[in-house]
Amino acid sequence: MSTFKQISSPIKQQLLSELCERLDDAIFILDAELRYLAINAAYEDMLGYDEDFLLGRPLGIYASEFLSEKEAALLRHITDRLDSNGFYENEFVLASRYGQKINCYIAFNRTCIEATTYYFAIIRDISSAVKDRQQMTHLLNYNQLTGLANRKVFLSHSHDLLITTEQQLVIARANIDRYRTLTNSLGQELVNNLMIEFVGRVNSLGLKKLHCFAHFGGDDFGLLFECKDTDMICSELDSILQMCERPFKVKGKDIYLQISIGVSYYPQDGNQVTNLVNKAEKALHYIKQQGGHGICRYSDKMNYIAIDNLQLESELRKAINDNQFEPYYQPKIELSTGAITGFEALVRWRHPSRGLLSPKDFIDAIIRHKMSFELFCQMALQITEQLSIWQDMGFTQYVSINADAAEFRHPEFFGFVSQLFDRYPIHPYQLHIEVTESSLMLRHANIKQQLIALKELGVCLALDDFGTGYASLSYLQEYPFDFIKVDRSFISEIAHNRTQQAIVQCILDLATALDMSAIAEGIETEQQRDLLLQMGSKYGQGYWFGRPVAAEVATTLLTESLLSK
Ligand code: C2E
Ligand code: MG
Ligand code: MG
Repeated sequence: MSTFKQISSPIKQQLLSELCERLDDAIFILDAELRYLAINAAYEDMLGYDEDFLLGRPLGIYASEFLSEKEAALLRHITDRLDSNGFYENEFVLASRYGQKINCYIAFNRTCIEATTYYFAIIRDISSAVKDRQQMTHLLNYNQLTGLANRKVFLSHSHDLLITTEQQLVIARANIDRYRTLTNSLGQELVNNLMIEFVGRVNSLGLKKLHCFAHFGGDDFGLLFECKDTDMICSELDSILQMCERPFKVKGKDIYLQISIGVSYYPQDGNQVTNLVNKAEKALHYIKQQGGHGICRYSDKMNYIAIDNLQLESELRKAINDNQFEPYYQPKIELSTGAITGFEALVRWRHPSRGLLSPKDFIDAIIRHKMSFELFCQMALQITEQLSIWQDMGFTQYVSINADAAEFRHPEFFGFVSQLFDRYPIHPYQLHIEVTESSLMLRHANIKQQLIALKELGVCLALDDFGTGYASLSYLQEYPFDFIKVDRSFISEIAHNRTQQAIVQCILDLATALDMSAIAEGIETEQQRDLLLQMGSKYGQGYWFGRPVAAEVATTLLTESLLSK
């Protein structure tokens, strides 16, 4: 066994100094005036200066008058701390000679040898750990798709601002309407691109009062505004809605996004962030249930409405099971003769306790709760049965049924419609289907095929509420419609408003050019009827001729019209 031999002091010094030289961590030693006395190779590499240059120079390399304010403050901080504790440690960003910024950890010590003060420090490059930490922080605080702050950051930001503000705050919760349908029809990847473009567009609006724009995930966004007067925010929010009127390009197709926004105000609606966010969410929920696409401010009545809505859903399910929906028939008239050419079937809900309800009270909820195909079936069965009764009486008029474009995607839709004509001895052309422009907006891939298949079956198709959507003309080109229904909003002022007259004239001319027939909706006066006739409108519908009525009353109308011939 070899005997242990202690090393001499000079060898120990040499070994230690070699160790220092080979260390990955940077080391430097300073005199009492914070001037460099010694550095190791790692420090030379890190800083980009060699030892010859640094020796005798003050820490920070340059004399204090040349240091930036930040560097001088850091040095002051280090020396202050060292004076009291003799030790200092911190993380900081070191700028190398070549401008490279290095995240470092520094441990700084003061020591005294033979009545002389020295400082020595060890610096570790922690850039990769800092990067990992930054990535982790990003993951925890930001939405990874859009890079916007997440809900947690939004809440803490709102909380901080709420404590310090001397102004008012507006918390807005925004949602994309029909997001799920978009995802189903376009796929998640394209929808993600859509969300990125949406965020880019909101950012480019440069909203002046916007403090924080956050992405909670999916189609869920939060906006925090600070302002002297909350009315100022309305125009900023409006600009978001307006911005969506320009189409978003997806796979070469134009997609139109509609946005719903719920808002709450501080201090009017509360002084707790979570409470304010909840209220903005309630307002958002409310406007979505009203069909979406708009801005809604929170009000206390929304609490009761939320409960009502739950009840409405279960009542609607029962109504579908118990056949509580029935068609009311509104005559469609040939303007030149006054003859009834057909009827539009409009759904009415014979509610067990609330009486007869109109679509405005429930149709959005039907669509939202995905019961529109069931409603369509219930209506179509009653309508075709009524058509066959009228047929037996010698009436061959047609009846149009309203459908939401989403119904066409139901796997049983086409089969159901075609078997109606096996079941009842009526002609397919006696059944018309009206589709609104707005429901066509998403242009589901198979709608066009379904419409063509219906046409081939012999069913007539009408584009309802023409002129109220965004892309009316392109729909006419894309889908095989037989009728264009001119929306009531163009007819209401037609007798006094030349612009409306010019628009209606254009639609009538367009219909003629495309071999389609135009039907003017909402004729309420004789003057409107005369004017439309004069302008070349062949068909019309409206209270002037008759309101929607029950089947028996419609039968009487048909009988009377026969007698008056
Ligand atoms: P729509 O298809 O555009 O139907 C015309 C609406 O305007 C009907 O309202 C009708 O009563 C009303 N109207 C007709 N003539 C006049 C008039 O001269 N003046 C005024 N002010 N209004 C007139 P209703 O029955 O309340 O239906 C509203 C909407 O509900 C319909 O608009 C249609 O989009 C939808 N709807 C109705 N029935 C059904 C259905 O069975 N299924 C689906 N999916 N939607 C339906
Ligand atoms: Mg209609
Ligand atoms: Mg209409």
